[in-house]
Amino acid sequence: MTYDDSNVFAKILREELPCYKVYEDDETFAFLDIMPRADGHTLVIPKNPAINIFDVSPEVLCTTIRTVQRLTPAIRDAVEADGVLIQQFNDAAAGQTVFHVHFHIIPRWDGVALKPHAGDMGDPDVLAANAEKIRTVLEAA
Ligand code: 5GP
Repeated sequence: MTYDDSNVFAKILREELPCYKVYEDDETFAFLDIMPRADGHTLVIPKNPAINIFDVSPEVLCTTIRTVQRLTPAIRDAVEADGVLIQQFNDAAAGQTVFHVHFHIIPRWDGVALKPHAGDMGDPDVLAANAEKIRTVLEAA
C-alpha cells in the first residue's frame, strides 16, 4: 500500500476540507474528530505523509507523540474529564479508516461509556464550542 494523498486528513492539511482546529506547529496538526466518541475527541497528525505506524519514520512519530503529550492535559482540563484514552489504529483489520497516521485523544468520565468509533456526526455548535475551550486552555498554558 502506498500513501494516497486524497485521504481526508491530507485534504484537511491542504485546507481543501474544513476542520475544528485546536493546534498547529511546524510538524504537527490537531483538530476535533468530526464523529466524536466523547466531547473533546481530538486527532493529532503529522504534516509529513505516512500511512500508519508501519510507515511513519521514528522522527515524525516522536514529534507527533510530543504533540499528543502536550495537548492531552489541556484537552482533559478543557472538558473537565476524569481521564484520557489515547488510541492509534493500524490497517483496516485494526479499525483504521483514514490512512494518514494519527492519534486519537479521547476524554473519559467515570461511568460514561464511549460512543462508537466513527459513529454519528458531532453537533457543529458543540464541536465549535469544544475546540474553542481547548484553544483557550492551550493559549493560557
Ligand atoms: P481511524 O479509524 O482511522 O483510526 O480514525 C479516523 C477518524 O477520523 C474517525 O474517528 C473518524 O470519525 C474521523 N474522521 C473521518 N472523516 C473525518 C473528517 O472529514 N473530518 C474529521 N475531523 N474527522 C474525520
